[in-house]
Amino acid sequence: MQDYGKETPLIIEEGSGIFIKDVDGKEYIDGISSMWCNIHGHRKKEIDDAIKKQLGKIAHTTLLGPSNIPAIELAKKLAEVVPPGLKKVFYSDNGSTANEVALKMAFQYWQHKGCKGKTQFVALQYGYHGDTIGTMGVGGIDIYHKVFQPLYFKTHFAPAPYCYRCPLGKQDRDCTLQCLDELENLLKNNADQIAAMIMEPLVQGAGGMIIHPTGYLSGARALCRKYNVLFILDEVLTGFGRTGKMFACLHEDVVPDIMSLSKGINGGYMPLAATLATDEIYNAFLGEYAELKTFFHGHTYTGNPLGCAAALASLELFEKEHILDNLAPKIKHMQTKLNSFKSLEHVGDVRQCGLISAIELVTDKTTKEPYPWVERVGIQVCHEARKRGLLIRPLGHIIVIMPPLSIKVDELKRMLDIIYESIQIITNE
Ligand code: PLP
Repeated sequence: MQDYGKETPLIIEEGSGIFIKDVDGKEYIDGISSMWCNIHGHRKKEIDDAIKKQLGKIAHTTLLGPSNIPAIELAKKLAEVVPPGLKKVFYSDNGSTANEVALKMAFQYWQHKGCKGKTQFVALQYGYHGDTIGTMGVGGIDIYHKVFQPLYFKTHFAPAPYCYRCPLGKQDRDCTLQCLDELENLLKNNADQIAAMIMEPLVQGAGGMIIHPTGYLSGARALCRKYNVLFILDEVLTGFGRTGKMFACLHEDVVPDIMSLSKGINGGYMPLAATLATDEIYNAFLGEYAELKTFFHGHTYTGNPLGCAAALASLELFEKEHILDNLAPKIKHMQTKLNSFKSLEHVGDVRQCGLISAIELVTDKTTKEPYPWVERVGIQVCHEARKRGLLIRPLGHIIVIMPPLSIKVDELKRMLDIIYESIQIITNE
């Protein structure tokens, strides 16, 4: 925080497509999609128009009791695009609340089912689900979460499938997903106390863009089913095309019991989130008035009509512009270009899933020693990139790249060239 006072602040005034412009008129590629949420670029006409049209009707009306047209239409549309079975939509306004809702729903589901002892959760080390107390409790990143430890409910942490730094010391050749055995032990020994497992599918974002090996997600899903534990997927970051498919869980044909969505839900335009659940979960909350089975949770801006109108326009664009089909050449280009980063002396690992990628910088490739975070190497690389017209944001010594899905191949090339050069300069190659 102290550094902010010393630095010249970057103040954004406007944007268009994948570019944003600061108050001095300098333009930057938005290399992190304005915090991992922009999909179609800035000032996308169709979304702007949908918001303006809705503004001509009503900007906000509460969902606590009544409903509104865009919220109803969006719920119907979401239920069509998510994996089959997730038919019920509960709105809130950001990723943390979407997950907080998911955790409360899972907990109360078991209370209604008469399994009063199922009060604990399972999560992954390095997991991130938000900054509210509940979601921090299932978060596994010490730097953010440890200090608040006394405030949390009980969560069991399973090792993250972080292959570059395998917690079980395995190499690619002797990996048979032993991390799933660890998860199984944990579930087996505590099944009577565990309400749900929550995880980010395929990509653990804030924990360092950790990309899971194939089979981990479907394996975790199967284990939760086996031990009668609800499975919550946090698709706040991975949802809406980021991984190359509409949702990450579709890569392994997984359907969770509960799914959280936010960020890209309306192209990254406005605060909106949704927690989707199966009929089985929903039905457990039905009962006579006096039974108090209701899910007592609601936020003021829940299901905001402007946000929902933007989301409907965004989902229409996915169809009209064949967004997912058009991703393949971009993903391929990113892969080829990122391969060349591996020859840099201080690039330890390069990982990619769809249009999400990360470059892990190390002081020594053989020992995989990361740069000490106090050296701020990630921040320095990002500052260097900023001078060259690219806005990115690191996670410690890990450089994160996550452009809007609308980026073109030549823009992608320019962005990756800037990052390559910036790494070379800062690591003194
Ligand atoms: N879940 C995941 C996977 C995230 O990446 C984030 C934010 O980065 C959140 C939840 C929290 O979302 P929000 O910042 O909107 O509360």
